[in-house]
Amino acid sequence: MDCIFCKIISGDIPSEKVFENEKVLAFKDINPMAPVHILIIPKEHIDGADMLSDSNADIVKDIMLAAKQIAQSFNLDNGWRVVTNVGNDGGQTVRHLHFHLLGGKKLNTELA
Ligand code: AMP
Ligand code: ZN
Repeated sequence: MDCIFCKIISGDIPSEKVFENEKVLAFKDINPMAPVHILIIPKEHIDGADMLSDSNADIVKDIMLAAKQIAQSFNLDNGWRVVTNVGNDGGQTVRHLHFHLLGGKKLNTELA
């Protein structure tokens, strides 16, 4: 499959990994929008949050628990944010479900 994040999972494209378990991988965003900008993705390819269903949505729990653990490891004690973009209007450029973990500064309060 021609998916850049699947290639990161397989190791065909390098990444700066910060967290990994059986189901989830997290690595630094190549174009950081904050001092800490991590992408958290399922190892199983899912196009986006619009493709979640009863049969695959358990991964969201694993991803959020990973987010909490990563935030702790980067000492984001003052707070952090998790965002997932969906489709064109959401600004999704990579069609492999991913959650942005942002922190390390006072984040913009304007969400949209
Ligand atoms: P989105 O716009 O929500 O689809 O987010 C895609 C994100 O993937 C962007 O923030 C990009 O900077 C990031 N990105 C694209 N290619 C890579 C890569 N090879 N390694 C790390 N991050 C990447
Ligand atoms: Zn993929």
